[in-house]
Amino acid sequence: MAKKQFKAESKRLLDLMIHSIYTHKEIFLRELISNASDAIDKLYYKSLTENVTGITREQFEIRIAADKESRLLTITDNGIGMTKEELESNLGTIAKSGSLNFKKDNEQKEDIDIIGQFGVGFYSAFMVSSEVKVISKAYGEGQAYCWESSGTEGYSIAECEKDGCGTEIILKIKEDTEDEKYDEFLQEYRIRSLIKRYSDYIRYPIRMKTEQR
Ligand code: ADP
Ligand code: MG
Repeated sequence: MAKKQFKAESKRLLDLMIHSIYTHKEIFLRELISNASDAIDKLYYKSLTENVTGITREQFEIRIAADKESRLLTITDNGIGMTKEELESNLGTIAKSGSLNFKKDNEQKEDIDIIGQFGVGFYSAFMVSSEVKVISKAYGEGQAYCWESSGTEGYSIAECEKDGCGTEIILKIKEDTEDEKYDEFLQEYRIRSLIKRYSDYIRYPIRMKTEQR
């Protein structure tokens, strides 16, 4: 499949994330959960303003599942989802997050400060992942799409199957090295404590799927 190139600014941010020595890499989970929550807000708002039937507030949820064997961490929402074009423009060109402009003006500052002070958004997933897959179906659309990238060399988008609207973010968690530890992001108790610490304010239920053994 043909790879598409990230926009220059996005590539720069992505590079920053991939090679980050930032110690609080765990904030990626906060970023992805906040995106999931925003997506649900958008669909909920639509249901209230556009007289959409069949959507009730109680059915909205964010699901987290970790599979140690395959090293996959999945964050799923049943929010508004993204069309093919939205996947392209929202995930292929992330320069709106103020962090990059900030960096240009303060080149002497450490990357670390920037990541801590600003939400770096979706690309923070690359701090802990060797591969990121986004499966999404926009509300009101029939076809789902899969966006896939393993970093700065680009991304691809293809048609795929998905029931219902919303988005599934599938992270292939990096392997542990001597200096950098990632296994913890596949451990249920660690994930639960991160949710408690960073995402306690989220107004939708966050449900963790317990691994079957
Ligand atoms: P921000 O949340 O500050 O806009 P992000 O980098 O976190 O920036 O996300 C970029 C964009 O990608 C979002 O604005 C949104 O349009 C889209 N997006 C990311 N995650 C999701 C999701 N789970 N569902 C729908 N859209 C999403
Ligand atoms: Mg965000």
